[in-house]
Amino acid sequence: MSDFGALARIQQGLAQLEADRLLRQRPLLESAQGAQVRVGGRELVSFSSNDYLGLANDPALARAAVAAIGEYGVGAGASHLVTGHHRLHHEFEQAFAAFVGKPAALLFSTGYMANLGVLTALLTRHGEVFADRLNHASLNDAAQQCGAKFTRHAHADLGQLESQLKKSAARDKLICADLVFSMDGDVADVDRLLALAEAHDAWLYLDDAHGFGVLNDGRGGLTAAARQSPRVIYLATLGKAAGVFGAAVAAHADVVAWLAQKARSYVYTTATPPLLAAALLASLQQIAAGQARRDRLRRHIQRVREGLGALPRWRLMPSATPIQPLLIGENAEALAVSGKLLEQGLLVPAIRTPTVPRGGARLRISLSASHSEAEVGRLVSALARLAAT
Ligand SMILES: *Cc1c(COP(=O)(O)O)cnc(C)c1O
Repeated sequence: MSDFGALARIQQGLAQLEADRLLRQRPLLESAQGAQVRVGGRELVSFSSNDYLGLANDPALARAAVAAIGEYGVGAGASHLVTGHHRLHHEFEQAFAAFVGKPAALLFSTGYMANLGVLTALLTRHGEVFADRLNHASLNDAAQQCGAKFTRHAHADLGQLESQLKKSAARDKLICADLVFSMDGDVADVDRLLALAEAHDAWLYLDDAHGFGVLNDGRGGLTAAARQSPRVIYLATLGKAAGVFGAAVAAHADVVAWLAQKARSYVYTTATPPLLAAALLASLQQIAAGQARRDRLRRHIQRVREGLGALPRWRLMPSATPIQPLLIGENAEALAVSGKLLEQGLLVPAIRTPTVPRGGARLRISLSASHSEAEVGRLVSALARLAAT
């Protein structure tokens, strides 16, 4: 232990995490992202990425990036409002907005920064954020930082949300939800949320990190009513199904104009490299033409649900998305099952408390169009065998 007090305290903190078995590791990836990966010298079949369509290592995206590097180099060199806003960023924003069916869009460096930027640009201490308890950490952090009152409701309990909205005296209200919940895989009821937003004069901010590229022909989880409504602000992150990096916020043109002025995580940061915008344009084409990938993904989802739907001890959670969580219960058992799968060359992460509620430790099985049927079959039979022992 250090004799510098503050350092000694974090050293104790690390020791405590280790004692509680909460110290997280960073598996060392030595291959491209994909269904087969090499991690720490081992070849594994991975059910642990968010690369749902298998685009992260797609040759068309890589070619687009390489061509853009040849022409424009690697760095953006400045923030968007100075001289970093490249034609490729601009083209992507327009193509993205048209694809998801909103008037305009703004490209952020990451989803984390987008959530922070949107909430802090729209709300002050006169506002109130209404949030589902299972929302992603980045939405919660953003809600805390914008200074508004932060009111949470039980997961998907829109009755509770309604009574909270009724009680609110805040000038500006914002309802925010994961459109696909990242640890459970279930989908928010967009039209009912929109009806509540309309009844209570609130914004509706939908974080579709896990639905964009996958749901609704790839356009993500917006409904027709949500596309039309000026209250609805839509976020897609672009490092998951889109296979690249970044995040795009689509909304009414004046909302986008305001965000470009006021979202601090947009204004005060270097623009993402134009080469990523080039890869994103190629990704958008692959997503639009990606029905075969989505069909394969749907078959994998069906296979998992049929194969693991009636295990003796563990319960598959209700999800129709590529996120298929298998509820195990305690941290130690979830870790043990994940470890046994790893011995068989299958990489499936155990998600533990505090990421999920106590007693809710689970395997988070992520399926991808890049998996073969044989690989999904291997996972299903391995888990069925483990559950029977
Ligand atoms: C991954 C994720 C984010 C963060 O997006 P990044 O681009 O990875 O920063 C935000 N919201 C949800 C629901 C996510 O799953």
